[in-house]
Amino acid sequence: MKILTVPVTPFQQNCRILVCTSSNKAAIVDPGGDAQKIVATLNELELVPEAIWLTHGHLDHVGAADELAMAYNLDIIGPHIDEKFWFDALPQQAQMFGFAPRPAFWPTNWLSHGDTLTLGELSFEVRHCPGHTPGHVIFVEQTQKQVLVGDVIFKGSIGRTDFPKGDAPTLIASIKSQVLSLSDDFVILSGHGENTTVGHERATNPFISGRFG
Ligand SMILES: [Zn+2]
Ligand SMILES: [Zn+2]
Repeated sequence: MKILTVPVTPFQQNCRILVCTSSNKAAIVDPGGDAQKIVATLNELELVPEAIWLTHGHLDHVGAADELAMAYNLDIIGPHIDEKFWFDALPQQAQMFGFAPRPAFWPTNWLSHGDTLTLGELSFEVRHCPGHTPGHVIFVEQTQKQVLVGDVIFKGSIGRTDFPKGDAPTLIASIKSQVLSLSDDFVILSGHGENTTVGHERATNPFISGRFG
């Protein structure tokens, strides 16, 4: 597997392009904006994406999903259906985040906890991780020990819980049961900032050391 990172939007959201190196199949995770930048990266590597996967419905993670879906005739997969209100509210999110006005769109398919997404010879386990948002999901690749966590956890920090339907105790419980249950050598790919590992966060992240529950 190859994972390319394309920082998008003024929030420097880490859009990821996942590539199965044996089949050359690619998926786009969290295309939050700057569609032309994502397309340029795909073209450079001569990749034709076969799906778009979303961790949650915040505009900086989904803003270019409809445009790319249209351009490549792709399905938009995920997140969990509890996230629907954030998609309904995309026009308001644009206003709230100071982005250009835009219409709402909705995913082709919602995901459930325990679903599997396949990309060529790779498979990703879907885990529901509410707290930052109620329908947030993460994608776990077991053979190469990678987990795409969106805004659930960051290097040294965790997702905000002050948005509508956000909840700090729920987020901490999600992190403990769904992220920290992975072995220490798993690489955490977050929606913002640098990569980290489960072991590093288990040992050093102040939000999950017990201080906050
Ligand atoms: Zn978010
Ligand atoms: Zn974000």
